[in-house]
Amino acid sequence: MASVEIVDIRKNYGALEVLHGINVSIASGEFIVLVGPSGCGKSTLLRMIAGLEEITVGDIRIDGQVVNEVPPKDRDIAMVFQSYALYPHMTVRNNMSFSLRMRGASRERIDRGVADAANVLALESLLERFPRQLSGGQRQRVAMGRAIVRQPKVFLFDEPLSNLDAKLRVLMRTEIKALHQRLGTTSIYVTHDQLEAMTMADRIVVLQDGRIEQVGPPLDLYDRPANRFVAGFIGSPA
Ligand code: ADP
Ligand code: MG
Repeated sequence: MASVEIVDIRKNYGALEVLHGINVSIASGEFIVLVGPSGCGKSTLLRMIAGLEEITVGDIRIDGQVVNEVPPKDRDIAMVFQSYALYPHMTVRNNMSFSLRMRGASRERIDRGVADAANVLALESLLERFPRQLSGGQRQRVAMGRAIVRQPKVFLFDEPLSNLDAKLRVLMRTEIKALHQRLGTTSIYVTHDQLEAMTMADRIVVLQDGRIEQVGPPLDLYDRPANRFVAGFIGSPA
């Protein structure tokens, strides 16, 4: 587990500023859901936390340490994307062990990591299959398996369920929450689905046009939305 602090973060693409000073302190073990309309800067913020995007101004701190200059592979972070980005030519086992192999982990560490992740995600019987031989839900589980083999302290999810059908989305919500609790990670979960936000979050962060509109537990936002935008987004009658 780890705390994540986002301190006065700004992001420019050329002359265009897309994040205008973002501040959020996330406690160790918290499940934060980041919501907001398309283009408001959700993915950009996640990518900066992961180290995949340069920070224009501000700091990302993990357990109090500024990680702005720490390369992605040395951060104790894993990210799950909407497009599963599995390697089509590799088995489930090899997809899952890839990040550990890249880091030169021992055979034993790799085997244990894959076995643990497969157990948590009920993937044991699928380890020798290729991605094309899996259903959408199974692929999404493998994508999560890839992320958890390293047992990261921080989990980032960028709309991980938006390619799945409605029934599977509901099922996977529960699975992701259970995984978060079982691994004791800190999670930041991006979605534009209000229901997902309301049911999964310890606290919701509402973003609009690169600014935070409100931060709070789901029911606080529902009962006391800070403005019309939040009310409209959360669906409460303000
Ligand atoms: P969201 O994930 O909330 O839909 P993004 O973080 O992807 O939003 O994008 C925020 C804004 O930054 C958008 O206006 C988008 O067009 C812009 N943007 C994102 N990535 C780039 C990039 N690599 N170059 C230029 N502009 C970008
Ligand atoms: Mg996005």
